[in-house]
Amino acid sequence: METSLSSSLKAWQIAEKCKRDHNQIDPMINFFIDRNVRYKDVLNTHLYFDVQDIYQQVEKLKSQAYEHLPLAFVPVLIKDNICTENIPTTCASKILEDYRPPYSATVIERLKQAGAIIFGKLNCDEFAMGSSNENSAYGPVLNPWDKEYVPGGSSGGSAAAVSAGLCPIALGSDTGGSIRQPASYCGILGYKPSYGLVSRFGLIAFASSLDQIGPMTTDALDAALLSDVIMGHDPKDSTSLKSGSPSWFQTLKELKESEINLKGTTIGVVSEFFAAGIDSEVNACLQENIKKLSELGATIKNVSLKSLKNSISTYYVIATAEASANLARYDGIRFGFRADSHEGKKSLKEMYANTRTQGFGDEVKRRIFLGTYVLSSGYKDAYYTKATRMRQVIKDDFLAAFSAVDFLVGPTAPTTAFKLGEKNKDPVSMYLNDIYTIAVNLAGLPALSLPCGINSLGLPIGMQFIGKPGDDFQILKGAYVYEQATGWHEHHKPKL
Ligand code: GLN
Repeated sequence: METSLSSSLKAWQIAEKCKRDHNQIDPMINFFIDRNVRYKDVLNTHLYFDVQDIYQQVEKLKSQAYEHLPLAFVPVLIKDNICTENIPTTCASKILEDYRPPYSATVIERLKQAGAIIFGKLNCDEFAMGSSNENSAYGPVLNPWDKEYVPGGSSGGSAAAVSAGLCPIALGSDTGGSIRQPASYCGILGYKPSYGLVSRFGLIAFASSLDQIGPMTTDALDAALLSDVIMGHDPKDSTSLKSGSPSWFQTLKELKESEINLKGTTIGVVSEFFAAGIDSEVNACLQENIKKLSELGATIKNVSLKSLKNSISTYYVIATAEASANLARYDGIRFGFRADSHEGKKSLKEMYANTRTQGFGDEVKRRIFLGTYVLSSGYKDAYYTKATRMRQVIKDDFLAAFSAVDFLVGPTAPTTAFKLGEKNKDPVSMYLNDIYTIAVNLAGLPALSLPCGINSLGLPIGMQFIGKPGDDFQILKGAYVYEQATGWHEHHKPKL
């Protein structure tokens, strides 16, 4: 039975309760503050948390007309690569240790206008580079399902926080899978929108042509609600699509009983997703779930993405090339950390080198080296230009697959969460973990991961839906139908 204050409350329920009865506001906020205080250090999820700041936001909102605001008094936690005015924004890097941006990202402004309370900033892999959250300069995040396991990355703090019920909704960013893979490892829903649907203004750039902010929630309704708030054209981001804000939450809420099924929907099963490398339990679970989708009325078709095998190499050329350019700005002059020069005079060049040597972690340095190499004269055509051509081949492959189906289904990752320390000495095996998520970013497609099973170790398994460009609602509705039919997401939570 649900008590009136519970960590399973959805964002829309919290907003409704607080708007209906203002006596609910303080107990609600205090309930979530207590939960954050109780678990944030256990899981190492937070990089910034300030109770006074939370109360100030709450009091300010109480003095305004909040009755029409969709997220009134809803606690939201934010991945620490999204700028928040005057609040530390570190990208989990030492180089941005003391950085307090002079402005907020567009998504933050929109959350505030919608009545959300920004509860704090979350740990992640440094500059969003990683798949396990072990690359943070502030230590790894632990998986709430089992603290010996990684939460996935790079938005591991966001996934762990939502999974542990520290907030109903959080923001993550996804450059090659960083929303979907941790969502899968922590048993929540993670949705990466079509490229251009969410403004990147104020998202600290990793690889600008791939990065996208997106919702991390416990279900499709909350993902729709959060999307309605953060989406819509932003003149401050030249890659932002000229589309209005959606109203997906209402559309899903108003579906009639007879419409909550997958009749008339054709779903493609990507055969390459089930090839060598996939864990047998993940495979069996997905097969079972594909059957369920068919029982819900979907027509299932096999499709092939021949170029999928090239997606990791293509990604690691393009993403590192863009990262090496984007991270050139951290030089000890303009932002955050500067290496000490107390041992006497240092040249400007030495100061740059020392700052970057001390400020960046190993994975970030590895990528700057790789990116600089693939862009250097003599190598650019062999690597960068070739990768941009392969990117087009991957896009075309998806478009061909979509000619026969409405969306694609597959696992989110080849395995469930792995143990802390298991892969971090072997970057290539870490990179291979992203095999099912990365191609989606190269093609700019919408995709989400939703929980659909548990393995024999008690760890969650994620199912991925990949949609046609701009057809984001189709996959959200698919997730909603699955949730309504199975109730899976309600019945399986970590035991903290
Ligand atoms: N794991 C991938 C990487 O390390 C993806 C990261 C991301 O999506 N931000 O690049």
